[in-house]
Order: sequence, then structure tokens, then C-alpha cells
Amino acid sequence: MLVVGLTGGIGAGKSTAAACFAELGAAVIDVDAIGRQVLAPGGRAEQGVIDAFGPEITDDRGHIDRAKVAAEVFGRPDRLAALEAVSHPAINAELDGQLHALAARGEAQMVVLDMAVLTESRLGQLESGRGYTKVVVVEAPEAVRLSRLIERGLTEEQARARMTSQATDAQRRAIADHVIVNDGTPEELASGVDRVWAELTGS
Ligand code: ADP
Repeated sequence: MLVVGLTGGIGAGKSTAAACFAELGAAVIDVDAIGRQVLAPGGRAEQGVIDAFGPEITDDRGHIDRAKVAAEVFGRPDRLAALEAVSHPAINAELDGQLHALAARGEAQMVVLDMAVLTESRLGQLESGRGYTKVVVVEAPEAVRLSRLIERGLTEEQARARMTSQATDAQRRAIADHVIVNDGTPEELASGVDRVWAELTGS
């Protein structure tokens, strides 16, 4: 079972590309969703994050309020590092369990980890050896990404702030095994995924 890390800057088309991989038969794991799940009530990182940040980041039922956590860490590298020190090992543990279960079922030839934060972290790199072994990067010019994000409802300022908080295209390219440039139509993106699928599977 080939495990692929799929990443890209916000608005590049990573999730759309993940859907194309799924159509070709890949199992897709939404690692960003696991990130939300570990903070939810009963999640693996819930108590650790409350212990690290205090009751200020909880709601009136004592659960984590993710908007408060986001506000706390935005633009503050030390606070972000404190959050990730708790959440990332929890995400990797959850991911490891899901990959173990998929491998045991033996159905998927390829698993795609859909993850915004790949370049910037050790997410998806697992001591069990079950983590990703190939990296696919989806890329699009900044102007295209901006207009997609604005269409999705962000203001230009919000879109730019998110883009600058992420790794750069050059940083992502440096660790990519395969790059898909998504500057055309959705059909062209699907063809790019077909090409990379063939390269990855040797088909
Ligand atoms: P990411 O996961 O990288 O943030 P998404 O896959 O969610 O990006 O894509 C961002 C937005 O752009 C979505 O609304 C998606 O439907 C749209 N989109 C992605 N690729 C294309 C494309 N080639 N042409 C037009 N719209 C696209």
C-alpha cells in the first residue's frame, strides 16, 4: 500500500486533487479533519491542549473552542509550537491507527493523505514506518489562488494572511516528488492527477 502525502498552499486545489485521486481508487484521509477531531470532546489532544492553554480557550461547557485557539496562536510562533507539541503527536497516532486498519483490510493500492501542513511539520511521518513515502504538491499562481479563495468567501486580506502563514511554493517544491500545476480547468487538474497516478503506480 503506497502512502502519499498530498499538499499545497491554500486555494491551490489540494482537496479537489484529492477527490480526483479518490475517483481513481485511492483511499483518502483528510488529515486536517483529524486535526479538528483530536481537539473535539473526547479527542486525543483535548485534555493536553486545555492543560497547556488554560480555560480561556474553552467554551461554556468546558470544551475546546477552536476559534479561540486559532486566535491565540495566529501570528505567535511560540504559542503555535505549544499547540502543535500536543496536537501533532495526537494526529499522528490517530493517522497511524487509520493506516494500520486500511493496510489490514488490504483493499487500497494507494492512500492519499490530504494535508495542508506537510512541509512545515512532521505530520504524516510515522515511527511505525506507515507514514507517507511520496510527496505530491499541487501548485497554482498566487493570483489564481487569491481569486479562488475570494470566491469561497474570504476577504483578500484574510486570504493573503493565510497564504503568508504557510510554507512557500519553493519550500514545497523542494520536498515534492511530483508537482501538479493547477492553473487551468478542473479537467486539466484531473489529467494532472492521472499523470501522477500513473507515475506513482507505474501503470
Ligand atoms: P485547497 O484544498 O488547496 O485549499 P481546494 O481544492 O479547496 O483548495 O480549491 C479551492 C477552490 O478552488 C475550490 O472552490 C475549488 O472548487 C476551486 N478550484 C480548484 N481547482 C480549480 C480549477 N482548476 N478551476 C476552477 N476552480 C478550481
